[in-house]
Amino acid sequence: MLVNRLATNVGPVFGRSVDILKGMKIPEEAYNVIRNQYYASIVLAKLERVKANPRELVLGVAEEDIYLPDEAYVLGHSDPLMGTAIVSLFKIRQEFYGLPEDDAKVYGRLFKQSIHQLAHLFNMTSCRNPKCVNFYSQDMFDIDTKGERFCDLCKRELLEKR
Ligand SMILES: [Zn+2]
Repeated sequence: MLVNRLATNVGPVFGRSVDILKGMKIPEEAYNVIRNQYYASIVLAKLERVKANPRELVLGVAEEDIYLPDEAYVLGHSDPLMGTAIVSLFKIRQEFYGLPEDDAKVYGRLFKQSIHQLAHLFNMTSCRNPKCVNFYSQDMFDIDTKGERFCDLCKRELLEKR
């Protein structure tokens, strides 16, 4: 299970627990019938409602395609004020590219994108180092090329901000 594995591995990276929603049901209110995609900001607002307390951090993993008004699509989105983040598997899955499913590859992408989105919840900005897990990745090549760890600069920043 991709999401179970993610839930085990994400918390230790940040030194605190992160609530990962398993089998998240994406809110229908977020659906845009013209774009046939879900509006990421509405999903984040809905995620805030499942929080048990204001300090809790919640990450949703969605199968659906998500977007922001100025972008054709986004791979993930986050809101530091609400403490919520979402990652979409839609374009991360190999089948989107007509390729056979590859769990190891898909898990690696999901993990890296989750860390990247959650870093925003600690008020970290995207990193310019293409090897850093916190690098802003635009496509699968970027994601597959970057590492699974923070660079030294990001590590220091996280220690200051968490
Ligand atoms: Zn970095």
